[in-house]
Amino acid sequence: MRGTASEATLVAVLAARSKMVKQVQADHPEWTDVHIMSKLVAYTSNQAHSSVERAGLIGGMRMKKLPTDSKFAVRGESLRKVIEEDKAAGLIPFFFCATLGTTPSCAFDRITELGPICNTEGIWMHIDAAYAGSAFICPEFRPLLDGVELMTSNLAAIFTYAHQAKFADSFNFNPHKLLLVNFDCSAMWVKKRADIIGAFKMDPLYLKHDHQESGLVTDYRHWQIPLGRRFRSLKLWFVLRMYGRQGLQQHIRKQVALAKEFESLVLEDERFEICAEVVLGLVCFRLKGSNDLNEVLLKRINSSRRIHLVPCQLAGQFVLRLAVCARTTESRHIREAWTHITQLASKLLHENQH
Ligand SMILES: *Cc1c(COP(=O)(O)O)cnc(C)c1O
Repeated sequence: MRGTASEATLVAVLAARSKMVKQVQADHPEWTDVHIMSKLVAYTSNQAHSSVERAGLIGGMRMKKLPTDSKFAVRGESLRKVIEEDKAAGLIPFFFCATLGTTPSCAFDRITELGPICNTEGIWMHIDAAYAGSAFICPEFRPLLDGVELMTSNLAAIFTYAHQAKFADSFNFNPHKLLLVNFDCSAMWVKKRADIIGAFKMDPLYLKHDHQESGLVTDYRHWQIPLGRRFRSLKLWFVLRMYGRQGLQQHIRKQVALAKEFESLVLEDERFEICAEVVLGLVCFRLKGSNDLNEVLLKRINSSRRIHLVPCQLAGQFVLRLAVCARTTESRHIREAWTHITQLASKLLHENQH
């Protein structure tokens, strides 16, 4: 359990680096750590969250952003191509961060294509499912997890993703997003605990204890950056107890249904367009027309302070995003939001005619 997805990605990339350095050193004992590190290259999507690029920045490593397809997903082909080019240039690919549910448009990288490539190339695959991960407790959304292979259908399954992970070396999602847990609470799984402990283990005398070698105690201090930990699992436990599996599934289904309701309102209005498939609680939409027009619309929506939208850029277009987030959001809020948006849009379009 961690505070944030950003920490999980950072820990994953640092563990992957440490693993690769040791591996390369086994073949080239004369190479120094610094020499090997200077050759390492990590990849992620051009749609990945900024925290992934930041993990590369903090770790001082190359993090290349890969192009995405028309659904804003990374495909196997783009990864294969860049690996070949980089290997030919003498670089060592060591890490790929896939996203299930990207921040701009909730796109899903193709794990079934990317996973086998990472596994064959010995590249650590981390999956950032910060937002979308919670939805996988609903069977109907589980196909989105294809390639991570979740077998069981009960809530306990959310604790066992990574044990069954076919391709991923680590996986992370934020119960503090769709799963109703208060910030902060981020759950990370690592396929081989030795990989992560091997990277961060420190054993000063003052932290030694009698059960160290017994295997009975998992020392999570080796898994993370801070030494101490908050008791985050307690609040997760309370939420699980309070809502139960069905309650949480209902909550997620409601968020998605509200997003779909908003999508159908947008589709009924010819002045607007939907910009990405609506899969979970996020709707990407815009006025048909220029980016400037949409920027002005967004400014007016947000400065009127009744609702707040955060925009994104998709394929060069300025896009508005409606995200259903609150537990208390109801259909009438969605309809009110849409009425508000269309009123501002009508006014704007009218002004533009004169
Ligand atoms: C929200 C989000 C993050 C950042 O989450 P933190 O827990 O605040 O670090 C990273 N990646 C994705 C895909 C997200 O949705």
